[in-house]
Amino acid sequence: MHATLHMLSHLVVTTLFPSRCLICHDLLQETGSLCRDHFHALNLVGDPCCTLCGFPFEFSSGESVLCAECIHNPPAYDTGRTVMHYDSLSRVLITRLKYGDYTDLAVTLAPMLHRAGGAFLSDCDMIIPVPLHWRRLLQRTYNQSALLGGLVSQLSGVPMLPDGMVRTRHTPQQAGLDRKDRLKNVKRAFTVNHRHADRLAGARVCLIDDVITTGATIDACCRALKQARVEKIYVLSMARTLRGHA
Ligand SMILES: [Zn+2]
Ligand SMILES: [Zn+2]
Repeated sequence: MHATLHMLSHLVVTTLFPSRCLICHDLLQETGSLCRDHFHALNLVGDPCCTLCGFPFEFSSGESVLCAECIHNPPAYDTGRTVMHYDSLSRVLITRLKYGDYTDLAVTLAPMLHRAGGAFLSDCDMIIPVPLHWRRLLQRTYNQSALLGGLVSQLSGVPMLPDGMVRTRHTPQQAGLDRKDRLKNVKRAFTVNHRHADRLAGARVCLIDDVITTGATIDACCRALKQARVEKIYVLSMARTLRGHA
């Protein structure tokens, strides 16, 4: 397992060399990836929030409420939760996680993801990471969503099916595309792994993604999972675009 090897080598490195904050490069007292100031600067999402998609509300009304978007245009999943806003700070973290080979960062982030999924992880039969196309997997050597998913699986005891879904088309980078183009870009780009068809039918699945921006990728994954007769879909993400509530 590539990811495990990466993590082990990082463990060795972080033991031999003290950690520094990924943002300001200050030396850290404890192991981790962020100094106290930058950790507190993270724009975390929590309660009160939309019962369905997790969109944060400023005030609690004391009962389960849906956001305007979920009332008018409900998502394809049953429940979704995210850890933080996708802003300039979380963008740096996620970019490091994706391209920078900072797998120890995943160890810092996974418990937050586990906590965010507290409402539904105990109801899940399996965790499935949003897949990368094999060509991109070769470039990056690991899938950041699978890395997070594996750690959440360890923390929650919910088994991970790393190849539950496959990316059938090598879609161009989503960055820089508007919502319409993204939807077109990812439509039919995902399918379930038919080897697991029996396990997926009737299952309650937790999809894990690092970032949700327009939601086009998650929509495409949900469509494929529903075709495979998955009973319930939960979505857990590290960060999500919240401005404009796309
Ligand atoms: Zn810092
Ligand atoms: Zn909502």
